[in-house]
Amino acid sequence: MYKITLIPGDGIGPEVAWAARKVIDATGVEVLWELVNAGEAVWEATGSLVPNEVYRSLEQNRVALKGPITTPVGKGFRSINVMLRNKYDLYTNLRPVMSIPGLKTPFSGIDLVIFRENTEDLYCGIESAKEPGKAEATKIITENASKRIAKSAFEYAVQHNRKKVTVVHKANILKLTDGLFLETARQVSKAYPMIEFQDRIIDNMCMQLVKNPEEYDVILTMNLYGDILSDLCAGLVGGLGVVPGANIGNSMAIFEAVHGSAPDIAGRNIANPTALILSGAMMLDYLGEKQAAQSIRTAVLKTVEGRSVLTMDMGGTASTEAFTDAIINNIATIS
Ligand code: NAD
Repeated sequence: MYKITLIPGDGIGPEVAWAARKVIDATGVEVLWELVNAGEAVWEATGSLVPNEVYRSLEQNRVALKGPITTPVGKGFRSINVMLRNKYDLYTNLRPVMSIPGLKTPFSGIDLVIFRENTEDLYCGIESAKEPGKAEATKIITENASKRIAKSAFEYAVQHNRKKVTVVHKANILKLTDGLFLETARQVSKAYPMIEFQDRIIDNMCMQLVKNPEEYDVILTMNLYGDILSDLCAGLVGGLGVVPGANIGNSMAIFEAVHGSAPDIAGRNIANPTALILSGAMMLDYLGEKQAAQSIRTAVLKTVEGRSVLTMDMGGTASTEAFTDAIINNIATIS
């Protein structure tokens, strides 16, 4: 029996978290879900953005499945997502992006993995506006943080039979910060001669990904570029509704989709739960429950390929609940 923290979050979070929980339970893996919540909805109800029970639960269980949390623009608190990643040093943001047969997009055969450094860069939140009409932000890149994310990417490449790591940067302009990240990645790459190493400047990379996405394998990059490339890559495979993710540190992992709280569709039972369901499969892999994880992935593929029960973003008319039930039925038929 695993004890796992479940944070539903804001917007569509509760709907997709419910779906992911139901699908994981349907695999037969025994989970005792500890339900705690953080975010805008909790703040409105209690005056606290992250109640202490959230920290206690995370620190005790060390594994969490999390829905998206709204970050109000321009208001005086920092993103809870960024805060949790920093507080628990969840330095690897791992986001696999795969074409799903049956989903209509102009591309096929995409199978890449983004390794985004999760703890520094412009996300350190060091901003100032010392005089009217002028604002500054500080970008922090360290050798230590660059080295450990580069090692994560190369180790993953070796373990998952990947062929190539592409480091993405803007070192032609940001010679010290991005230059340090690039050079550190290059040094780390020397210990992995069996993996091809290449680098791309971020602007060129965006164009390359839209033109020839199937040429990329493992992408290694800094926090901000990783955030932007994640959404770009999601667009290549059918949208934000289908791309999962994980924030992994040395002793804790929080699994969450790439997408945000999608306030435009919240509460309507139309959100696509695939991204959080596949994040749940990544969580089962992390726990060593490989067979259950694979049965979820197979059931999702089968459901999408069938095309008769799809959510709106995938071209269908099914509700979040109906699509989730179709996945659960498929888990029952394949296991
Ligand atoms: P978003 O990802 O919430 O939505 C972007 C677009 O994609 C919207 O049109 C939305 O309807 C659609 N979309 C997203 N997920 C979908 C799904 N599962 N099914 C169908 N359609 C889906 O991005 P946003 O609107 O820029 O952000 C909303 C809020 O979420 C912001 O406060 C932002 O800070 C926050 N956010 C949180 C996280 C997180 O918790 N990890 C990540 C990204 C954004």
